Amino acid sequence: MSRTTHDAIREALRGVPGGAAGTRIEVTIDPNVKRAPFGVVTDRGLPAGLPPHTPNQPQYDARSTEFSDDEIIVTRLPPGEEDANSTMCMVSGRLARKVVKATSGHAPVPQPIPATFCIREAPGKGLGMFATRDILAGELIVAERPLLVTPAGIPARRTLPEHLTQAQVSQVLLADAEREYEVLLEKTAPALRDAFMALVDSHRFDGSGPISGRIRTNGFGADDMTDPEKPGYAMGANAYSLVCDNLSRMNHNCAPNAPRYFHVSTFSMQVRAIRAIKNGEEITTAYCETLVPFVARKAELARYDVKCTCSLCINPSQSDPLLAYCKKVRDRTPRASGNCDRGWYTDFSVPESTAVKSLLADLAAIVKVGQEFESSYVFTLFQLMKTYAARGDVTNARAYAKQYAVWHLAVHGKEVDDKQVESAFGMVAVAEVVLRMKGKMKGKMAGGKANAAK
Ligand SMILES: [Zn+2]
Repeated sequence: MSRTTHDAIREALRGVPGGAAGTRIEVTIDPNVKRAPFGVVTDRGLPAGLPPHTPNQPQYDARSTEFSDDEIIVTRLPPGEEDANSTMCMVSGRLARKVVKATSGHAPVPQPIPATFCIREAPGKGLGMFATRDILAGELIVAERPLLVTPAGIPARRTLPEHLTQAQVSQVLLADAEREYEVLLEKTAPALRDAFMALVDSHRFDGSGPISGRIRTNGFGADDMTDPEKPGYAMGANAYSLVCDNLSRMNHNCAPNAPRYFHVSTFSMQVRAIRAIKNGEEITTAYCETLVPFVARKAELARYDVKCTCSLCINPSQSDPLLAYCKKVRDRTPRASGNCDRGWYTDFSVPESTAVKSLLADLAAIVKVGQEFESSYVFTLFQLMKTYAARGDVTNARAYAKQYAVWHLAVHGKEVDDKQVESAFGMVAVAEVVLRMKGKMKGKMAGGKANAAK
């Protein structure tokens, strides 16, 4: 294969059917990335004379040692479960082994009791997910095994003629991917296959087949279902697309109340409430980056046939500045939590009113536009916990520690034990030391004054 063709394929691959970890599939951040087509594409299908692709997919037992880490294999995960309770996956050998190891305890997929939601007509949006009872922040709403797992970018399976345009290459890749998916879906348990085909396809006119169209419409990326980044490939080329049943019915909202994450040890996609949800309220998630202006979100959402009418989208002149403010808060959020220890909020010379006031203002802004799932929110909670602790305010330190723990549960599914919250992650001890120091200093100051008066 010549370098030009190879580059063209690689370029096209970056967007077929692309996706970044932790976001709705297809949302790529790099502006240079060429995307797979959407909307109405006139020259669809294979260029004249090009024969259809014939997939060759030996199926492996993921527990075997017959494949290498970097090989993309077809396998059923988790292994050893009934067909209807497991997922046909096209994943790297490395990821398959990771799942086999993590699921060896055969932990069942957790189910909230009593049930939390129903799927019903959402006015103007087709179907949607609605709360059937009040749900607390951090509570599990739904957990389910994916119906299908496929790479966010399918590797090219054949050498292509030199004369093809980039648009044609992209059409060939879509057509070839569809053949691969057909074989994968044939091996899927009938009930799961029916559930998959009952999902919405918003890519009917761009060259996507009925399977890849549904994957592109309904697939989610997940941080815990990725490979190491591939040098030379765009962000998301190491990601996978996970299509679920009920979860795929969740509609988009720019101020979502339910983020999602993948729980590897139960091999399930899960959704929890990021804030309290009232009985009857719609349960929503974000399909796109939310801390961007209305016009950018509108363009992104057009790829899913979504015209968002959320509280932010109906009033962009008011919401855009607030979102821009939240983005600023996020941009100064350290990436590693280890940096949390070196902030100005532990600087005792900063007056309490200044430190707390600005943090509370950040928190209020984030809540006002419903961006609690953002990392800037949890970082602000953490800063508040430490600021109060450093000033000897045990009650407030504990209150923010509790919210901090709930956030981690809702966004990552990570349980924080009560003891840690009770001690505000060790901050209560700090607060008590500060209180003692303050007492001593007051005593000294009082003594000094008494001496001076003499
Ligand atoms: Zn919106």
